[in-house]
Amino acid sequence: MNYQYLRDKREWSSEEIVSLLASEGDTMQQLFDIASEVKFHYAGNKVYLRGLIEYSNICAKDCFYCGIRKSNQEVRRYVLSEEEVLNAARFAYEQNYASIVIQAGELESPSFTRKISQLVRKIKDFSNGELGITLSLGEQKKETFREWFELGAHRYLLRIESTNPILFSAIHPDTSLHRFDRRLQALSDLKEIGYQTGTGVMIGLPGQKIEDLASDIQFFLDFDIDMIGMGPYLEHEHTPMFAQRNELISMADRFELTLKMIAVCRIVLKDINIASATALQAIHPEGREHGIAAGANVIMPNITPDRAKANYYLYENKPMFKEGVQKHLIELNRRLVASGNEIAYGTWGDSLHFAQRLNSKRANND
Ligand code: SAH
Repeated sequence: MNYQYLRDKREWSSEEIVSLLASEGDTMQQLFDIASEVKFHYAGNKVYLRGLIEYSNICAKDCFYCGIRKSNQEVRRYVLSEEEVLNAARFAYEQNYASIVIQAGELESPSFTRKISQLVRKIKDFSNGELGITLSLGEQKKETFREWFELGAHRYLLRIESTNPILFSAIHPDTSLHRFDRRLQALSDLKEIGYQTGTGVMIGLPGQKIEDLASDIQFFLDFDIDMIGMGPYLEHEHTPMFAQRNELISMADRFELTLKMIAVCRIVLKDINIASATALQAIHPEGREHGIAAGANVIMPNITPDRAKANYYLYENKPMFKEGVQKHLIELNRRLVASGNEIAYGTWGDSLHFAQRLNSKRANND
C-alpha cells in the first residue's frame, strides 16, 4: 500500500474500495496507519467534541433493529424537559465542547417541530450563538428542516442505514413511514437548505456483503457528504432482528470491519468529519480510541441526564458512565495523544469538506 498514491487518489472503482475493505492482518494495520496519515494531511490531528443530548426515545418508526422502535413495549418512554436540555447544553458550553447534538426517536408533528425550534432558539440565545448545534431527528418535511436551520442549527445527521435498497427493505417494515426514497430525499433537502450533511450506515447487518459497504462508500462520495457517523450493528433482544443473531459475523469481526470502514472512508473522502461511534465502545472499552486511530476525528460524549440515559437503549451493552464525563474525557485524551491526536476545545470543528463544497459551488456560479 502506497501512502502518497492513496492520499492523492480521487477516482475510485468499486473493486478498489472492496480490496481496501478486505485488508487483513498486517495489511489492515497498514490501512489504519495510512488512513491516520491521510486524516492528518487533510483534516489535522484535532478531535472535535459534540455533547450528545438524547432528547426523547418516543419514535413513530418500527425499524427491525432498533431498541426504541415503536412496538417495543418494554421501553419506558421519556421526553426531556426544556430545562433538562438547556442544562445539558449549558454544561457543554461551560466545558467548552463548542457543539452539541440533539438526537431523538423520529416524530413528525407540529408540536415536536415547535419544541425543537424553541430549544434551538434558546440554546443559541444563552450561548450568544457560540454553541454549534447538530440535529439528528430523522426524516422531516423540508419546511421543518428549513425552520430549524434558520434558527441556527447548522449540521444534520441522518443515516441512510444501508444504501442497498434490498437490504434497506429487509431491515425496515414495508410501510410508507419507512421508505428508502424518502430518506434519500430528506438528505437532498438538508444539503440544499445548507446544512452540513451527515449520513452513515450500520456495519455487520445480516446478509450485508463487503460489496454493499463499498457501494455505501461510493454513495458517500457521489452524494458529496460532509460528515459520517457509522457503527457496528448490535443486536437488541426486544427487536425482530434478534431472531437473526446466529447469522451475524462475530463481534470482533464487526468491530474490525467498522474500523476498516472508517479507514477507507477517510482515504476515499479525505477532508470530511467522521465520528467514532459510541457503538464501537459497546464492543471494546477503548473502541472510540481505535476509531480515532483509524481515521475518525469526532467524538460524541453522552451528556443526556442520567434519569433518561438508560432508556435510550438502541442496542445492547450501550456504555453508561457512572463517573463524570469530564474525568472520562481527560483520560480519553491521554490515550488519544498516544496516536498523535488531541481533543480540541472551544472550536466548532466544522467539516472542512463543507467549506470546500461551498467554495467550489461559488466558483461555479461566478
Ligand atoms: N431517529 C433518528 C436518530 C436516532 S437512532 C434517525 O432516524 O436519524 C440513531 C442511529 O442509531 C440510527 O440511525 C441507527 O443507525 C443506530 N441504531 C439503531 N439501532 C441500532 C442497533 N441495534 N445497532 C447499531 N446501531 C443502531
